[in-house]
Amino acid sequence: MKITRIDIHRTDLPVRGGVYRLSGGREYHSYDATIVSIETDTGLTGWGESTPFGSTYIAAHAGGTRAALELLAPAILGMDPRQHDRIWDRMRDTLKGHRDARAALDIACWDIAAQAAGLPLCDMTGGRVAGPVPVISSIGGDTPEAMRAKVARHRAQGFKGHSIKIGASEAEGGPALDAERITACLADRQPGEWYLADANNGLTVEHALRMLSLLPPGLDIVLEAPCASWAETKSLRARCALPLLLDELIQTETDLIAAIRDDLCDGVGLKVSKQGGITPMLRQRAIAAAAGMVMSVQDTVGSQISFAAILHLAQSTPRHLLRCALDTRAMTTAELAEIDAPLRDGGASAPSDPGLGLRVNRDALGTPVKTFGDPI
Ligand SMILES: [Mg+2]
Repeated sequence: MKITRIDIHRTDLPVRGGVYRLSGGREYHSYDATIVSIETDTGLTGWGESTPFGSTYIAAHAGGTRAALELLAPAILGMDPRQHDRIWDRMRDTLKGHRDARAALDIACWDIAAQAAGLPLCDMTGGRVAGPVPVISSIGGDTPEAMRAKVARHRAQGFKGHSIKIGASEAEGGPALDAERITACLADRQPGEWYLADANNGLTVEHALRMLSLLPPGLDIVLEAPCASWAETKSLRARCALPLLLDELIQTETDLIAAIRDDLCDGVGLKVSKQGGITPMLRQRAIAAAAGMVMSVQDTVGSQISFAAILHLAQSTPRHLLRCALDTRAMTTAELAEIDAPLRDGGASAPSDPGLGLRVNRDALGTPVKTFGDPI
C-alpha cells in the first residue's frame, strides 16, 4: 500500500458558549483547525487533525502547523501508511520538533491501517477494554458559586470527573479566590467522584503554596500543571502533599522519562497533538504505565476527528491507569464528522466501525488549502 495524495484543509472551530478562559487572562473564541486526508493506491482514505489551543498554550500555532505540513507531507508520499515507526522516522528526519504537525499525518495513517485490517482503531492499539470510557467535565474559571452550580449540572448529566480551572490573578482574587473555587466545587462531592484543579502552568510557586494553605484539610483532589517551568514544579513538588499531574511540561518521550527520573508527578496528561500523534502516544502510554502513572487521555482541542483518536486510545488504555478522557465535542460547535459515540452517564464508547469510525462531512471542510501528490 502506498500514500498517493495528501490534502490539507483549514477551518475554524467556534468555542461552545462563546468564550473559554484559562489562567493568565487567556481567552479563546475560536480555534484554527488543520485537517488532513491521506489517500492511498488501495482506495482507502484516512483522516487526521491538529488544532493547537491558540498560540499561547504550548509552542505551537496553526500557521506553524500548516507550514510544517508543507515539508512533512511530500516527504511521506509513496510510503506505506501502515509502517508507523518508519513514517515517524521519516517525519523526524525531515523536520525537527513540530509534533503538532506530525500528529495530523500520523493519525490519518493509523486510520488507514485500521481500516485495512477491518478493525476499530482501539483494537489496533492494544484492544478494547470493556465498558465506556469516563469523560471529564471542564469547569472554566468563574465565581465559586457559579462553578459549584456548573459541577452540579455536570453531575446531573452523569459526569464523575471534574476539571476545575484555577489561576486567578491578584486583581481577580489571587490564591484566596482559587482556594474558594476548589472548596466550592467539592462542597457537594458524591462517592465515586474525583477532581482535578488545573492551573495550565499559570501559578507561581508562591501562589500555589498560599492557595494550598487556604484549603480545608482532607480535600481529595489532584493538582494539575501548577507551574510553567520544571524548576518551579520541582520546588513545589517537595512542599506539596497533593498528587500532581503534569500536562504542558510533558510533550516528548524524553520529557516523560525525565519526570519519572525526577519523581516530578503522579500522573500525566497525554494529548494527541501535543505528544505528536498516535505513535508517540502509544510509546508514552507504555512508559507511563511502567512507572505506574495515571493518564488523562486528551487533545489540546479539536473536532469529532480529534475526539475519535482520543476515544480509541482511551478505550484501549488499562482502566486502572486511565484517569479520564476529554470529549472535545463539548468544547466547540464544530460539526466536521459523524461518530457513533454518544455521551451517556458521563462516558462514551469507541465506535466499532473500522478505523477511526468517522463519516467526515467534506462539504464542511471545503476546498483544500494545499494538495500534495496525485491530482484528483
Ligand atoms: Mg491540563
